[in-house]
Amino acid sequence: TGMIFTESAPRFTVQSPNVTYNDETVTSKYTYRTTDINVTDGKFVATPKETIYDFKTELKVGKVGLMLVGLGGNNGTTVTAGILANKRNLTWDTREGPRAANYYGSVAMSSTVKLGTDSKTGKDVNIPLQSLLPMVHPNDLVIGGWDISGMDLAAAADRAKVLEPSLKSLVRKDLAAIKPLPSIYYPDFIAANQSDRADNVLEGTKACNEHVERLRADIREFKSSNGLDKVIVLWTANTERYADIIPGINDTADNLLKAIADGHEEVSPSTVFAVACILENAPFINGSPQNTFVPGCIDLAEKHGAFLGGDDFKSGQTKMKSALVDFLINAGIKLTSIASYNHLGNNDGKNLSSQKQFRSKEISKSNVVDDMVAANSVLYKEGEHPDHTVVIKYMPAVGDNKRALDEYYAEIFLGGHQTISIFNVCEDSLLAAPLIIDLVVIAELMTRIQWRSNGEQDWKSFHSVLSVLSYMLKAPLTPPGTPVVNALAKQRSALINIMRACVGLEPENDMTLEHKLF
Ligand code: NAD
Repeated sequence: TGMIFTESAPRFTVQSPNVTYNDETVTSKYTYRTTDINVTDGKFVATPKETIYDFKTELKVGKVGLMLVGLGGNNGTTVTAGILANKRNLTWDTREGPRAANYYGSVAMSSTVKLGTDSKTGKDVNIPLQSLLPMVHPNDLVIGGWDISGMDLAAAADRAKVLEPSLKSLVRKDLAAIKPLPSIYYPDFIAANQSDRADNVLEGTKACNEHVERLRADIREFKSSNGLDKVIVLWTANTERYADIIPGINDTADNLLKAIADGHEEVSPSTVFAVACILENAPFINGSPQNTFVPGCIDLAEKHGAFLGGDDFKSGQTKMKSALVDFLINAGIKLTSIASYNHLGNNDGKNLSSQKQFRSKEISKSNVVDDMVAANSVLYKEGEHPDHTVVIKYMPAVGDNKRALDEYYAEIFLGGHQTISIFNVCEDSLLAAPLIIDLVVIAELMTRIQWRSNGEQDWKSFHSVLSVLSYMLKAPLTPPGTPVVNALAKQRSALINIMRACVGLEPENDMTLEHKLF
């Protein structure tokens, strides 16, 4: 029962009566241990609880396609060029010397997980996260997609001003061969300043069945012409304004489908893409902050058992925030205000200089500390919350080199204060591109995992809303009515421990008793 997940990764097999391998699947019987609390008269009684699940993971990954909405944007061109560079193992000259293609910034490709402890040396054995279970290698992804701008990807990469010229020249020919499919453009949803690039658009400026059918046909055609087993679609197009939630229009699956058929003005392009993907059973991930997943859209996904993930890539400032605030509050330090300023000069910044689109981003950036604050009733009274403000300004000169300035102000022992200032500078798209890869790699894996409760016959998929993708997302979407976890470390352990459960391994715990009790 030897197992090799990827050629380059270390091999491991789990030797346990609870784990069985065959040619197609690995199956585990897993005991999920939690703690039940009963509250009576303000007193807590805690009872350990065990639930037994079976997990079954299909081992064959197959051929996977990635269709990006916004393929010609900064992220779209950067992720495409980056995968090409890796696939072709390129090195290029920079003023700091030669650089080689890598997947830095991808948690799947460039981070490791402790598998266990070496029985002979007592040392930790760490393996790349991507070898925990079989996952698609990003080099094997077939990339395509849509853009309202018809530029080929070589010209679009020039426009993006992200890549080193020496790297760009090595991938220019391949990029020039990729031209985005025409997309749907409803001008009311993105900033007016985007209109001059919209030269590759389908007829019609509001939702309609023809648009849904056309996008579905695009997905099917991409799948068949590239001989793909599955396609994942990811929105990395402009941030849209929020759509109003209107009873009777977008509150249920049926109403949403009817609103599309009737050409209702409140259905956004991203929701039309999501609906097309749900009907094609292609997982759809939203990398922007708008409320693509209106209740009717989630309802539709649940009915079709299709997968959704979102919202908004968690790349720079918010990633720091969801780590730092977790640390401060868990250290017992009372954070009292966060002031976040950004300026950026890429097309994303230009689009966000428009108020309604900025508002989507502001909402997505604002709620990221709520769960950590709510969890600490020693520091915060019911309803109490640190002040939190987010400012974003468009500054063309800095291009994709986004600046994020954050001040964290906290109350410490006996009325003292601690102020932490952070100045974070980085190419936005070089942070976002690896997140796109992680979202796709992990979403694809989730399509191959099934579960059932102990004693049940039928296997089921995970819930349509893939909250396991939260680590990569600023405003994680969770199944309706379930809590949102923003804390970065918790998001990572959820991801890793779910994968470990699939191969019958206990959650990674950091007790290291073996080094303490001797
Ligand atoms: P960009 O403006 O360079 O790219 C967006 C692309 O989408 C453009 O080429 C535009 O022509 C295209 N587009 C707009 N509407 C479309 C439609 N209806 N159909 C198809 N294409 C359409 O922006 P970017 O820097 O690549 O960022 C993309 C999105 O990701 C933005 O919404 C941004 O807020 C979000 N995001 C980016 C980061 C990051 O770090 N780069 C982080 C979080 C979120």
